[in-house]
Amino acid sequence: MLCEMCGTEVESTNRVKIEGSVLSVCPSCARFGVAIDPPATPAPVSDTAFQPTRPVTGASVPVSMGDRLSAGRRRLEERDLYRELPEMELAPDWMKRIRAAREKLAWTPEELAKKLNEKKSVVLKMESAGFRPPDAMIRKIEHLLKIRLRAEPEAATAAAGN
Ligand SMILES: [Zn+2]
Repeated sequence: MLCEMCGTEVESTNRVKIEGSVLSVCPSCARFGVAIDPPATPAPVSDTAFQPTRPVTGASVPVSMGDRLSAGRRRLEERDLYRELPEMELAPDWMKRIRAAREKLAWTPEELAKKLNEKKSVVLKMESAGFRPPDAMIRKIEHLLKIRLRAEPEAATAAAGN
């Protein structure tokens, strides 16, 4: 057999695809192309039947999905900004007020944490490190300990104690 590429007489040729055309070439020329006849065992029939059902992904699909994702992220960031704006103003000694009220009730940090559905470390961080809890938790603490943590005029504080 003759190699269709270099013309060398060889015992057997390999069919390879080179630049779009299929050629029967000698082993040394075969490396220039893509083998068409795979030497490995042919794929099972079930695999061949499965192939046509594989989804064909178009290039436009991931692009439009990315656009939607970034737009959603932008909306989320705006929402976060608005949510953080109206944070309640707390009294300068709000940490001390929590601890004093808790000790007055003879509650351990664990007990207060349990009532707040929080970890003990959260209570300890609030009282010592000044970890500012979210507004919702502040309201819960005020309700549980019957204290005010917000910076409010004296009159309002007095009226609230009822
Ligand atoms: Zn050749």
